[in-house]
This record gives sequence, structure tokens and C-alpha cells, in this order.
Amino acid sequence: MKGNIYVTQPSMPSYEEYCEAIRPLWESRWLTNMGDMHNELETRLCGILGSPQTVLFTNGHLALEAAIQAFGFPRGGEVITTPFTFASTTNAIIRSGLVPVFCDILADDCTLDPGKVEALVTERTVAILPVHVYGHICDVEALGEIARRHSLKLIFDAAHAFGTSLNGTPVGAFGDASMFSFHATKVFNTIEGGAVCVRDESLRRRLDDLKNFGIRDAETVVCAGGNAKMNEFQAAMGLCNLRHFEQERSRRAALVMAYRERLTGLDGITLPLPRKGTEANYSYMPVIFDGWKRSRDEVAARLAGEGIFARKYFHPLTSSYPFCSGGAVTPVAQHISENILTLPLHSGLGVEDVERICEVL
Ligand SMILES: *Cc1c(COP(=O)(O)O)cnc(C)c1O
Repeated sequence: MKGNIYVTQPSMPSYEEYCEAIRPLWESRWLTNMGDMHNELETRLCGILGSPQTVLFTNGHLALEAAIQAFGFPRGGEVITTPFTFASTTNAIIRSGLVPVFCDILADDCTLDPGKVEALVTERTVAILPVHVYGHICDVEALGEIARRHSLKLIFDAAHAFGTSLNGTPVGAFGDASMFSFHATKVFNTIEGGAVCVRDESLRRRLDDLKNFGIRDAETVVCAGGNAKMNEFQAAMGLCNLRHFEQERSRRAALVMAYRERLTGLDGITLPLPRKGTEANYSYMPVIFDGWKRSRDEVAARLAGEGIFARKYFHPLTSSYPFCSGGAVTPVAQHISENILTLPLHSGLGVEDVERICEVL
């Protein structure tokens, strides 16, 4: 009996490595509130993500809410965004008192289609919030140009994009702000965790306020911030996992190459790929079954029957949630959402697992 294969599996340091990393906490008893490891991780991430300011959060979702709220948009402002994403993106907009306006995506990499953004701009639009979905970096140049032309903020959901770069520029350098998720299932994890990259010092201060009750010092509270601080145990996990990230990336790259070798050129199978010039992180293995012998749902069920668990990322579209006002016309996103499956991909798999999966297909 072969073992089950899951879509993902958290990468972890050895037990001994993590224990060694957290040992100092038993001496200092400094468990949270911007401790040494938190601050070291922030500094390290600035270099990797290519941003002068990186602010850590306890999870990616609260990081995204803070990134949105840091700009102080008027209530009811419209945010042009993609429906082809995880619930977090859309919910963060709504929970910040803003209105998501859904724009269609590009068929080849599933990122926001810049050619369809401008038609959605109104006098209420305050920002564009695209997603570097699967770690595929958006058309940052075209989106930046539109944002500039209409004086809109450009906030990236870069939850999937840790470690990627475009023509040598690390992904955290694009737009006015970028949010990263370090959830256990992401390519780099701090158990739960997240970060926001910004360039501007005053935005950085605002993010620091939002994650710690707006407290500047013992007697000064400057805004109605919440609590979204990353603790030292999370930061320690991050510092350990950082040491192994390049190995993680190359193991995943080998598996992705094995998948591509077997699936490229098959009639009815399309592989969405990152744009030219991207250094990828191989975070997901999305496959579109369009005109294949079996539908996406049949493929998923058949794989599950063999103990292989793929995920319908992203189905349904977030625009179909009952609390989102309908009416969005995004035919490309709709079609992809109905036909896409992300296949198992994590460093615990071997090429023989990829072969087994492709055999079932
Ligand atoms: C994971 C994810 C988030 C939220 O991150 P958490 O760390 O899980 O809170 C936001 N957006 C996208 C696209 C994600 O995949």
C-alpha cells in the first residue's frame, strides 16, 4: 500500500536545530513584543525581499489588513482586485471598510489583467490590489503606470511570492506595499506569520502602530491599532527555515521540472507559467484541464481515490461569496477556476511521486 500524498507539507528544520534556536528564550524570558529574533528576522527579510522597510506580523491576513489600513483610505473607497485568490485578499478589503471591484485575469499566468483595470476606475477608486498568484509576478510595470496615472495606491498580495524576483529585482520592491504570508503551508514559514514591505519610513511607523495597539510608549497611544505582533517562537522558526530556503527552492524546482517534462505538450493540459525574467519559488504546481479526456473534478476525484490529494486553488472565485455584491464579469477567471487543479508539491516528495501522479492523469 503506497502512502498518501498531500498537496503540501510544511518545511521544518530539525527538532534539534529549532530547540537550539529557542534556548535563549528561557534565559531572557522575552517571548514577544519585538524581541531580538523578531528584529533579526525583519532585517534579514529586508535584504531577501528587496525592501528598505519590512514589518513582521503574526499572520499574513492581519499584515494585509494593516497594509490596506495604513493608507487611511476613506470608507467605501473602491479597490480593484482579482477574484482568483484566497478568501483573505477579498476579506481584508471588506474588513477595512472598502469595496472590492473585481477585474479579470490573464490566461497565461493567472495574474490581474492590466488591460482590463482602467475601465473599472471611478472617482471612488482608491487602490489596485493584485495578487502574485502561485508566485507569478504580476505585470508590475503596466499596473504601476495605471496607478500613477490615476493617483491610486498599488498594494500587492505577495502571499505566494516569497523569494521571487523579476529581472533581478526582488518582489518586495514593487508597488506602494507588498504583503507576504509565512503560514505553515507557504514556501517559507514561521508557523503562522506574515510581513509587509514598504519603502516609506512614515508608512513603516504606521504599520508598527497598527500591529501593537497604536502604542508608542508607556503613556502614548497614537491610533486605534490592534494586536498582530509576531512572537519569538515564530521568528525563531523563520530564522531556521531561512537557512534551508535555497535547498527547499531547488528541491521544488526539480519536482516542477519533472512535472513539466511529463505534462508539457499534452492536448487538453495547460500549465500556467511565470512571466519571462522571473526567478521562481516553485510554490505551487497549477494545471488547467481544458479539453482533457476527463474534467478537472473527475481528475481530482480519481487522484483522491489513489490517496493523492490535489486542491482546486482557486475555486470558487471570491466574487461569488454571498457577502460580495455580484455582477462582476470575469470570464477568464471563471473558466480557469472551473478547470484548474494544483497538484502536490513539497520538498518531502520525490520524482517517483511525481511519476505516480502523472501516471494516474
Ligand atoms: C495564505 C494567503 C493569505 C493569508 O495569509 P495567512 O498567513 O494564512 O493569514 C493571503 N492571500 C493569499 C493569496 C494567500 O494564499
